[in-house]
Amino acid sequence: MTAAQSPSTMPIAFLGHGTPMNAIEHNRYTQSWAEFGRSVPRPRAILVISAHWYINATAVTAMARPRTIHDFYGFPRELFEFDYPAPGLPELAGEVAEVVKPTWVGSDTDSWGIDHGAWSVLAHAFPDADIPIVQLSINGERDLDYHFDLGTRLAPLRESGVLILGSGNIVHNLRAVNFSLPDAGYDWAQRFDDAAREAMLGDPSGYPALAGHRDYAKAVPTPDHFLPSVYLAGLKAASGGDNPSTTVLVDGCSYGSLSMTSYAVN
Ligand code: ZN
Repeated sequence: MTAAQSPSTMPIAFLGHGTPMNAIEHNRYTQSWAEFGRSVPRPRAILVISAHWYINATAVTAMARPRTIHDFYGFPRELFEFDYPAPGLPELAGEVAEVVKPTWVGSDTDSWGIDHGAWSVLAHAFPDADIPIVQLSINGERDLDYHFDLGTRLAPLRESGVLILGSGNIVHNLRAVNFSLPDAGYDWAQRFDDAAREAMLGDPSGYPALAGHRDYAKAVPTPDHFLPSVYLAGLKAASGGDNPSTTVLVDGCSYGSLSMTSYAVN
């Protein structure tokens, strides 16, 4: 902890969630999420930016009892019956709307809840499900700079005990998935993951420029899973003066075309 940091400043993180099966499996990725959860001070609430709430607006969940959403198909019954019964925190929606001004954020009281991008990692990082969970949607109509900027604006929430958690995958190309490569990545996937790591560990202001990387189109065929990491870069940039330390919690590629790399920034 640096001198500039107060004990109440929450870490921020991006977790590479992979397939929904990680919610109920135990492997080196899920172990790193659990270790991260144990390493942080108890948050007042967790604001999750999940790849799976990718809509045409910027919104925040504002219900007292968010439901567990099973937004996938073709997986075992155990996953469809999975429940993550954490409460919401309706007043946090108002706090988010306030800190991101003049960017407008809608308040969702009945359409979303806690999706599998969120609960598959929360199940390991915060298994007791007793910390309030609020989700921030990803506005699919906006560019990387918008999301980076929104990330910078969320930074004050760290000072009030809110843990901000992105959940996606830096490289996520489902059409290129190869189940005979459970623990390996294609060259292009590894190259893009390495470039993202260099940007995240160095000066995060260059992170949105990854859109110009030669492997971007293959690594990020749709931006939903990549964008949660852009929020982490923006949040880190907003803490720039103190040279915040960035940790690679775990890295590696799965099935050729998924990067599982996860980061925490203190
Ligand atoms: Zn996903």
